[in-house]
Amino acid sequence: MRVPLLDLTEQYRTLAAEIRAATDQVLSSQRFILGPKLAEFEKAIVEYCDAPQAVGVSSGTDALLAVFMALEIGLGDAVITTAYSFFATAGCIARVGATPVFIDIEPATYNISPQALRRYIEKSCHEVEGKLVNENGQTIVALVPAHLFGLCCDMNEMVAIARAHNLILIEDAAQAIGAQFPLETGSAKAGTIGDAGCFSFYPSKNLGAAGDAGLVVCRNEQFAERLRRCRHHGMGAQYRHDFVGGNFRMDELQAAILSVKLRYLDGWSAARREAAKFYTDEFQRVGLEKKIELPVEPYRQSGLSNHHIYHQYVIRSPRRDDLREHLAAREIETAIYYPLALHEQPCFEYLGYKSGDFPEAERAARETLALPIYPEISREAQQYVVNCIAEFFS
Ligand SMILES: *Cc1c(COP(=O)(O)O)cnc(C)c1O
Repeated sequence: MRVPLLDLTEQYRTLAAEIRAATDQVLSSQRFILGPKLAEFEKAIVEYCDAPQAVGVSSGTDALLAVFMALEIGLGDAVITTAYSFFATAGCIARVGATPVFIDIEPATYNISPQALRRYIEKSCHEVEGKLVNENGQTIVALVPAHLFGLCCDMNEMVAIARAHNLILIEDAAQAIGAQFPLETGSAKAGTIGDAGCFSFYPSKNLGAAGDAGLVVCRNEQFAERLRRCRHHGMGAQYRHDFVGGNFRMDELQAAILSVKLRYLDGWSAARREAAKFYTDEFQRVGLEKKIELPVEPYRQSGLSNHHIYHQYVIRSPRRDDLREHLAAREIETAIYYPLALHEQPCFEYLGYKSGDFPEAERAARETLALPIYPEISREAQQYVVNCIAEFFS
């Protein structure tokens, strides 16, 4: 039985008529850039996320980049982020000339560790005129946690740390649209808790476009206005550029498609959670939870339905590579997110980190394996995956 990591064709089949009608409207209008479909999608996201402002952009990467550019983060600044995420989280920090500062992760959730973050601030930073300065004399201006695999970071901790040290809090919510977090002040959705939240609509994300697209949510109206200019080359009045931005616009076709798909997102998240539950129950039933580590659900008790949205179902084992080969030989597709921690990336050699600096991120890079999961995955396919993993460990 062939089990793909992700199959988007079934989802498209059920939505094809609706999506074609929406794209036909765009094609008939021949309005492709900054038109009514984007405005409509931004409004829908404002309602869905309960965020005051939404600014559609060209990708999740550009969402991060536009935020950093709009904030004028750059040379001499340092930005704290996780050592374990998709490359863009750190790449965008470096692209604006700032220095990424990595922090190790929690082994159970793969998200940035609040304890490790507090330890770094205590040991390596000092306050100068209300600003946090690190051992290299760089001003730490922002904190960028990434909500990995559909589970929010501990945002109570992130908010507290950002407040205490006057850091701008930017959420990389590319993998977590709709995920809920039980804040001390009430529940909130991923991306809406910090000063800005960045989403990706890369086709394989939980809400995927037909190409590249992304979005920023934020609370501050002036900042949203600045982002709207930033995505359009920093242009205010026609051909008058107040600052340097870029072409970071989401196009009308993507916005039209995303508006259709957004209406189904919560149903898909629930289906992903059901599929995750099936995996977890089956792994426990066959006694595999001692051989492999299963995903945890730290916010389950909150009663929030979207406490985890399972963008990925990630297990871990020291025998990961052999297990992956075993599954591949049985036509089961798996993925490694991510085989290298960020501080181990060749392009970040200049930052001077070495192996062993972030042991949990490094161990995750060696041990994690993402199993096939998507809303329409069949229980038969999942059972086959479980059986093949059981066979490997028998
Ligand atoms: C996908 C992703 C991005 C980048 O999004 P793109 O739309 O592919 O540019 C950034 N951060 C994380 C954590 C992601 O998973």
